[in-house]
Amino acid sequence: MATIFSRIVAGEIPSYKVAENDKFYAFLDINPLAKGHTLVIPKREVDYFFDLTDEEIGEMQIFAKKVASAIKAAYPCIKVGQAVLGLEVPHAHIHLVPMQSEKDMLFTNPKLQLTTEEFIEVAENIRKNFPGE
Ligand code: 5GP
Repeated sequence: MATIFSRIVAGEIPSYKVAENDKFYAFLDINPLAKGHTLVIPKREVDYFFDLTDEEIGEMQIFAKKVASAIKAAYPCIKVGQAVLGLEVPHAHIHLVPMQSEKDMLFTNPKLQLTTEEFIEVAENIRKNFPGE
């Protein structure tokens, strides 16, 4: 059965898309730690991040770098933090979170409750700054 993230890529489940190319997809985390918290996933379904090929990890990281740059432009922060957990969804993903302090990367923090309009606005703000391919 397809993962929830593959169903998002297929458009079967809605998402707030931030960027996409032929191999990777970036969209807002539905339970964000901060405005701009984005997930980057490979379209190929692989559970464990470190089971991706060397080439995929390289390309995914370059794609994530562009997304991080767009996040930082849209939501000024000290740095965009990156984390790989994958304990909840068995489809490899990178979390990108704009950080004002180290505490912003604590996944046990309470998540933001954003309205649909706010999610749409956040995704647009990041998309506008995505440099493209
Ligand atoms: P992890 O697997 O890295 O522990 O956490 C999975 C992340 O995916 C969580 O931060 C969670 O909020 C997010 N997530 C889970 N299901 C969905 C979903 O259906 N849509 C979106 N946009 N994010 C999701």
